[in-house]
Amino acid sequence: MAAVLGDAITLEGVSKRFGSHLAVHELSITIGDGEFFSLLGPSGCGKTTTLRMIAGFEQPDTGRLLLYGEDVTALTPNRRRVNMVFQQYALFPHMSIYDNVAFGLRVKRVPKSEHRDRIVEILRVVELEGLERRRPRQLSGGQQQRVALARALVNRPAALLLDEPLGALDVKLRKQMQLELKRIQSELGTTFVYVTHDQEEALAMSDRIAVMNLGRVEQIGTPREIYEHPRTAFVADFIGSLNALELTVDELVGDLAILRVGQGERVVVAVGSNARPGDSLRVAVRPERIRIDTADEPAPEGGSRLEGTVREVVYLGMYTQFHVETSVGRVVSHQLAGESQARVEPGSRVVLTWLPEHSSVL
Ligand code: ATP
Repeated sequence: MAAVLGDAITLEGVSKRFGSHLAVHELSITIGDGEFFSLLGPSGCGKTTTLRMIAGFEQPDTGRLLLYGEDVTALTPNRRRVNMVFQQYALFPHMSIYDNVAFGLRVKRVPKSEHRDRIVEILRVVELEGLERRRPRQLSGGQQQRVALARALVNRPAALLLDEPLGALDVKLRKQMQLELKRIQSELGTTFVYVTHDQEEALAMSDRIAVMNLGRVEQIGTPREIYEHPRTAFVADFIGSLNALELTVDELVGDLAILRVGQGERVVVAVGSNARPGDSLRVAVRPERIRIDTADEPAPEGGSRLEGTVREVVYLGMYTQFHVETSVGRVVSHQLAGESQARVEPGSRVVLTWLPEHSSVL
């Protein structure tokens, strides 16, 4: 893979081993200039190690790392135009907010004559104007996180690397700061590489996401691509809940595979030219895409239709979960409150239907 103009960060076959443990395995990722890119995965999948290699705190065992086309694999951290923000943002308690931010400039030896303008500007961007003279302990958790951000951004790095930066905040503040971070990122146009194990956070903020598992990338795509068309069972399961059905292809119609289940029951999924009758497939469908009806609902045009018996109904406020026993296993359907499903209760015979575009092959 060659770096092209507009690429901020390129990892080419980067691996990292700690003793006998392979933490990152032949990772190849290209992150565009100005992109909000997230590394998402469970604890221990290699996200932080990847970020630390981009920053220069870890040296890869194999592969190359390019920043704006320049090979930086052998450069020390202070010679790379990137900055890192950590979960423990470690502000200096005895220094004012102004001096905490100025510290970032002193480290990079920015001439003192430029400090004031730069600090005022970045404190405006993170919305902390007027708080320059306070000490960190006189700020809320969210404000302290903004100071850490300002300190990292005041040097105008080409890319900002963020390692679970909202991890220490409570849920409500976290959601607020997600929007704030996104706003700051688009205002400055800085490339952000964001590490998180929280799928909702990654979906809400990112232009693109790399889903990682056991040191490898399982899938890279926009939040919508990853959510709507997960390519592996791991991705599908990690990003939201999912139904997975093991079925055999009966017939191909154009690029759709028809998998018959019983009289009037079938699953339909787009397969392109990759399947033949007799192949067995794992077909995934999100619970919120499945409509549930008591009547003898016909299949939607070209879509899937299964019959079954409701085993459980779980009321969750925003939506209700219906667990339905079908001839191909348990299928879960989510219905938003207010949709007509008042007559569906445990024991009800129901019909589940969904459109072809809402099925995907794992
Ligand atoms: P988390 O979300 O828990 O931080 P992560 O996805 O960021 O997880 P890494 O911190 O990159 O994961 O770690 C990947 C694997 O490498 C883990 O199994 C970890 O124990 C191991 N590891 C990381 N750093 C070291 C080290 N310095 N020495 C030995 N093993 C390490």
